[in-house]
Amino acid sequence: MAAKIILKKSREKSLLRRHPWVFSNGIEKVQGEPALGETVEVFAKDGRWLGRGAYSPQSQIRVRIWTFDRDEAVDQAFFARRIARAQQGREFLIERDGLTGYRLIAGESDGLPGITIDRFGDVLVCQLLSAGAEVQRETLVEVLKAQFPQCALYERSDVDVRKKEGLKPVKGLLHGELPDQPMVFEENGIKLLVDVEHGHKTGAYLDQRDNRWAAARYVKGQRVLNCFSYSGGFGTYALKAGAKEVINADVSKPALALAQQSAELNDLDLTRLNNVEADVFKLLRQYRDSGEQFDVIILDPPKFADNKAQLPGACRGYKDINLVAMQCLKPGGILLTYSCSGLMDAPLFQKIVADAALDAGRDAQILEKLTQAADHPIGSAYPEGFYLKGLALRVW
Ligand code: SAH
Repeated sequence: MAAKIILKKSREKSLLRRHPWVFSNGIEKVQGEPALGETVEVFAKDGRWLGRGAYSPQSQIRVRIWTFDRDEAVDQAFFARRIARAQQGREFLIERDGLTGYRLIAGESDGLPGITIDRFGDVLVCQLLSAGAEVQRETLVEVLKAQFPQCALYERSDVDVRKKEGLKPVKGLLHGELPDQPMVFEENGIKLLVDVEHGHKTGAYLDQRDNRWAAARYVKGQRVLNCFSYSGGFGTYALKAGAKEVINADVSKPALALAQQSAELNDLDLTRLNNVEADVFKLLRQYRDSGEQFDVIILDPPKFADNKAQLPGACRGYKDINLVAMQCLKPGGILLTYSCSGLMDAPLFQKIVADAALDAGRDAQILEKLTQAADHPIGSAYPEGFYLKGLALRVW
């Protein structure tokens, strides 16, 4: 008999709306002694069955629901169905945008809480972020081997969020042979490089794909500063789209080395490219103080807030870089600015950018509102799946 989780009165509401999280403070009692990651049955106080999910004894998110269908077992066939559906849902994008790199599984939004899987060529890179995902590792490997027989499987669960689940960081090959790193993947006719062993997260930021494309439409003949460039995605797109000059700026030397190689791979004019190893906060100030001006500036910083307590600091950080970036833009220049902090919602981000314009004494117009690419969908019952916000602004 599976252990039972009985919720407090009226705490079933979010589950009835198919939100997949049960918080520890919503639980009245636990019947049985479920182990870490074990599949449990969740009931309302009045005895109604609500869902079947994975138990996480140390996390505030005590249960993550796998299924809201009482007849659906959480077995290998379950994972096979979810993964097949996710692949099916991405076929149109793969075809439309010529993708050999895409997010196959976006966790909760693909009905697989705690599981991220990115594909680069014939390598699948997975992150198991929750107790439930952790105990399903072998099942997932079996399913992925069957559905993607040509693919190697590599795990990059070397992330801090696992601590909240009582899990240690893990990294390594799960199946097959890993090709030499870095490897090439393609999107929108552009070759990009990824190092799945040593890169950030799963190796590349696929969520910015549409925004790289959006940015490319502003840069022809322009002088572009690509801040927080990582492996140069935006910069490579910009050079290909005819930018007069591109400066990629990042603190990571290995990432900048990939940016350089990626420009070479695409046969771009390397005399127009400059890769600068620098702290963007300082670099922008140097440019401002020395009067350097750009036509287009891209700001794609890392996540500034991991929790609510960090939000005020994050707001100051976003305001600061946006303000100084605006000061470095020629009148009528373009700012492409992003926030991947899920805790900062789109209206707040817009307000911070507006405040930055006020303080910079510049008049800014929003031309486009941007978001994560469609292989990072947002489950309609899971608004937390929306995290990447962007604005394209003209700054006078
Ligand atoms: N725009 C990239 C993704 C950026 S991820 C793409 O499209 O692929 C954020 C990057 O910011 C990382 O590469 C990280 O090394 C870099 N970074 C973090 N803090 C920084 C700082 N203070 N100055 C410069 N780069 C920084």
